[in-house]
Amino acid sequence: MNRVIIFDTTLRDGEQTPGVALTVEQKVDLAHRLAALGVDVIEAGFPITSPGEFEAVRRIAETVEGPTIAALARTHPADIERAWEAVKGARLPRIHVFVSTSAIHMERMLRSTPDEVLRMVEQSVADARARCADVEFSAQDATRTDINFLIEVVQAAVEAGATTINLPDTVGFATPWSYAAMFEAVMAAVPPERGVIYSAHTHDDLGLAVANSLAAVRAGARQVECTINGIGERAGNCSLEEVVMALKVRADQFGVQTGIDTRAIGPVSEAVSRATGVVVPPNKAVVGANAFAHESGIHQDGVLKDPSTYEIMRPEQVGRGSSLLVLGKHSGRHAFRSRLAQLGFNLPEPALREAFNRFKALADRRETVDDETIARIAREVMDHGEGAARSAAHGG
Ligand SMILES: [Zn+2]
Repeated sequence: MNRVIIFDTTLRDGEQTPGVALTVEQKVDLAHRLAALGVDVIEAGFPITSPGEFEAVRRIAETVEGPTIAALARTHPADIERAWEAVKGARLPRIHVFVSTSAIHMERMLRSTPDEVLRMVEQSVADARARCADVEFSAQDATRTDINFLIEVVQAAVEAGATTINLPDTVGFATPWSYAAMFEAVMAAVPPERGVIYSAHTHDDLGLAVANSLAAVRAGARQVECTINGIGERAGNCSLEEVVMALKVRADQFGVQTGIDTRAIGPVSEAVSRATGVVVPPNKAVVGANAFAHESGIHQDGVLKDPSTYEIMRPEQVGRGSSLLVLGKHSGRHAFRSRLAQLGFNLPEPALREAFNRFKALADRRETVDDETIARIAREVMDHGEGAARSAAHGG
């Protein structure tokens, strides 16, 4: 079992991003893109919540081929029935049942005793299993749940037929080592011959969502629940592109694989940003505008000589075109000359020095200097130069 199942919940938890609501058409379109990306499971929605939500899940189940299509349900029979009605048209349907197991959620939200919650788990998982061979159970707020009670709940869910056990850090409270220890304790209490898949589901309230999911994988989890661009409730979910690239770039640390075609990451990230209206921050890992941009002269010189001097992955590997050398006040001559050559200018030494000085003077006053301005400087230097400057070029 060195394969990690990538469970994408962009269309369910991701859609719970404040201010985001996708139409049925948008959800179906994104589901096709997620399938092409190679995710193993698409959590398409929470069918009981609205007729539109039900319709989106049903259409995804009926039209998207490849991944397992999951629908979320509380432990109520009506939720499970609705979830099943929505996903039963899929070639690989999954019902995902959840209930809270932490003391604070059971007392304040569910107003139920631990024994009552245990009965809900048994009944709902059995109910889902009577309809669908693939049933995932989630112990909501697992990371704030008493570990002995959590073990009882998981044992009950497995006994009732759950095939995947998800232990969510619903409120983004875990640390990597506490999250790993929880998985180890739960896994040790269930006989391995049951063949249960353990799943991580993390939130980024402390900026630890990806680190926590990676720690769970090290502890033996073989499913990670994540979203494109890390969108989701509050500070968001574990970001798919980050967790996938961490598993790939640092394969030496994990020894596992995913089925993701990483070259599709960039385009899917853009499609999700467009559909949701949630802008990707420029410094976001893997998919941010600056993730492969270099401004410092020392870094630019290194990247021009060999990209691996400052890049641990290639932009092409994640569908991001090529590295970007941003010309600004920190940039050096090597990058400047290289950009001039790209723009079609081959200035001899005195003209190059003159152009570089003009560029630096300008860069001191602006954040970055764009290609158009660089071309203008080159033309001016050539026109007003001593005639020594000649363009070898097509551009400008
Ligand atoms: Zn969540």
